[in-house]
Amino acid sequence: MTIIEELRANRDLPDEKLTALLETEEWDSVLFAEADEVRRERYGDAVYIRGLIEFTNYCKNNCYYCGIRAGNQNVRRYRLTKEEILSCCAEGYALGFRTFVLQGGEDPYFTDDRICEIVSAIRAQYPACAITLSIGEKERESYQRYFDAGANRYLLRHETADEAHYRRLHPESMRLQHRKDCLFALKEIGYQVGSGFMVGSPYQTTANLISDLRFLQQLSPDMIGIGPYLTHAETPFAHFENGSFPLTLRLVAVLRLMFPYALIPATTALGTIHPQGRELGLKAGANVVMPNLSPVSVRKLYALYENKICTGDESAQCRSCLEQRVRQAGYRIVTAVGDVKRNGV
Ligand code: SAH
Repeated sequence: MTIIEELRANRDLPDEKLTALLETEEWDSVLFAEADEVRRERYGDAVYIRGLIEFTNYCKNNCYYCGIRAGNQNVRRYRLTKEEILSCCAEGYALGFRTFVLQGGEDPYFTDDRICEIVSAIRAQYPACAITLSIGEKERESYQRYFDAGANRYLLRHETADEAHYRRLHPESMRLQHRKDCLFALKEIGYQVGSGFMVGSPYQTTANLISDLRFLQQLSPDMIGIGPYLTHAETPFAHFENGSFPLTLRLVAVLRLMFPYALIPATTALGTIHPQGRELGLKAGANVVMPNLSPVSVRKLYALYENKICTGDESAQCRSCLEQRVRQAGYRIVTAVGDVKRNGV
């Protein structure tokens, strides 16, 4: 049995074999083809779309890799009002979006009351849509309140599962254990949960990536989002290189074989590092795309990293551009709410 057959059959590999697989390009074409097969078995050629609304770039945290970190004085900060958010949803709904993802920095202005008010308003207007929050680490009670107000999915990448590596990416005030606890709390409350990590973040080793995969096995999230680390000049990591595109694709494929059920986005970061990044991500096992529904006036301001794609296009343009890209890659956008398929073949 080849290493790829073993990975596919067992949905797992011992650490040494995973290390070998991640560190060579030798298997890539076989790996991507197998990942695509597994994805087609479970999800056919469906690609789910999630409409991303980046509603605030204020953040109280100071993650060393992120362009909207509190310490960056050179970013114009913005917040969308509830009405603006609702009009993004309305535009998205008309374009066929049935999942709205509200993402932002950890912005104290958006108290639990304000988040609940926004979530309830969206829920009232779109009873059959999925509402996803991606607003960082909160206490369990807050997560419960958002859930009760109508949110049903939550994205919180663990970023790195290794303590020492986590310390090199975040200031002392942040704790990996708290982030992990948040993820388990979200699951217990009943959210569909997305987690993930950056590929090629500063100081990352292959052993760190394996810890990430092991942590995901423990968590068993519904969605797994990964993308290459991309540098931003206004951060302490300005002098680090971008993550590797081929390694990111390889990890997308490995994730598909380890987590056949998972929703795996071909992320904006993947599309930013390579002109065909998202298409190649889909061909390596990804099955979700998350185009931007934010007002064009603020898009450039939500700059987690540099050269982010799609910051000049209206939502409708993004939607039709993606439609074509997905079709050219050999798949089909579906507008269904797109729940995870845990019990497949
Ligand atoms: N405040 C929210 C949302 C964070 S932004 C939270 O804490 O979950 C969403 C994701 O963008 C992050 O989880 C991180 O993995 C990614 N990201 C941030 N900076 C990045 C960079 N420089 N390059 C690539 N991805 C980055």
